[in-house]
Amino acid sequence: MIAVENILRERIFNKERIVDLLNADANESKFIFEEAARIKKKYIGNKVHLRGLIELTNKCSKNCFYCGIASSNKKINRYCLSMDEIERAIKFTDDNNYGSIVIQSGELQSEEFVSYVEKILHKIVEISWGRLGVTLSCGEQSEDTYRRWREAGAHRYLLRIESSDENHYYKLHPKNAKHNFQTRINAIKSLKETGYQTGTGVMIGSPFQTIENLADDLLFMRDLDIDMCGMGPYIEHEDTPLFQYKNICFSKEDRLQLSLKMIAILRIMMKDINIASTTAMQTLVNGGREMALKAGANILMPNTTPSNYRENYSLYKNKPGMDEEAEDSKQSIETLIERAGYEVAYSEKGNAKHYYNRLVSSAV
Ligand code: SAH
Repeated sequence: MIAVENILRERIFNKERIVDLLNADANESKFIFEEAARIKKKYIGNKVHLRGLIELTNKCSKNCFYCGIASSNKKINRYCLSMDEIERAIKFTDDNNYGSIVIQSGELQSEEFVSYVEKILHKIVEISWGRLGVTLSCGEQSEDTYRRWREAGAHRYLLRIESSDENHYYKLHPKNAKHNFQTRINAIKSLKETGYQTGTGVMIGSPFQTIENLADDLLFMRDLDIDMCGMGPYIEHEDTPLFQYKNICFSKEDRLQLSLKMIAILRIMMKDINIASTTAMQTLVNGGREMALKAGANILMPNTTPSNYRENYSLYKNKPGMDEEAEDSKQSIETLIERAGYEVAYSEKGNAKHYYNRLVSSAV
């Protein structure tokens, strides 16, 4: 094993070295976090960009083994927000100058769903006069759907690979046509080709995952040259098949440290991408999102879903902000950004600098 300081100085991020970094103890991790903070300051600055998050629907056609809204979970009420409810959330996000909006949902491919999202996108452009940046996180879709949504106003898309190791992927998902590993990778590539700022990510500390898997995940993101990343700790959910493995997962403390190190190493490897400080960080520990910002993340997503629906969008248990109105979430988000030593970037879309740099370098 090579000392962390040497790896950071030499800047060779191959699998072996990344594994060393992920295995760093608390004393050595300090150097990783300091380097990530230095790079973030230089390439991103002191601002944190916001994305008002709307959880459009918990209806889902898939059966991912970790996810609380998988279609086999009969214990939750299924909802889809009405256009009125969505309009209110859009107005809230725009009135509060959040700068961007994210629409997240279960995975549905029906024409009814595709055209509903299209209508919502038109509404966002209309209400905000194009002021709001728009990210979608609505799963795998055909290239045609991605194009329709792009034309309707979406310009960023997050589709997590969840695990970049095919064997591990099938420990987290059923092995069938609906959950095909290669199809998911192709979907990420087709998002890039359709012109989206493209994001992916993984769950950290999921059952059967190894440190080597996580190192490969980081290399996967670098090789795919992604613009954005959303990754966070795996949180067990009692109404899912993977719950039975809760005793063989990494401990909560290990998941926290690994998540922070994954963010920091990715920031060092891919300096100008957008990295989200995810809700799952906060679920794992109080103050988790603040820690993620300090480790290299630069994006926060206040939840603007009407509070009466939030408990039904429980991807995992104990999600924070469940009982809060959007206004309260806004307050707490601002406080946490300031506490972490950063500034809220109001009224800015906060596009990924990497996207522009990527376009420029492919043009020369
Ligand atoms: N279905 C959409 C997005 C909805 S879920 C899609 O696949 O793009 C958003 C993310 O929540 C998922 O990508 C997954 O990484 C995360 N998630 C789901 N269940 C989780 C759990 N039990 N613990 C931690 N993260 C989870």
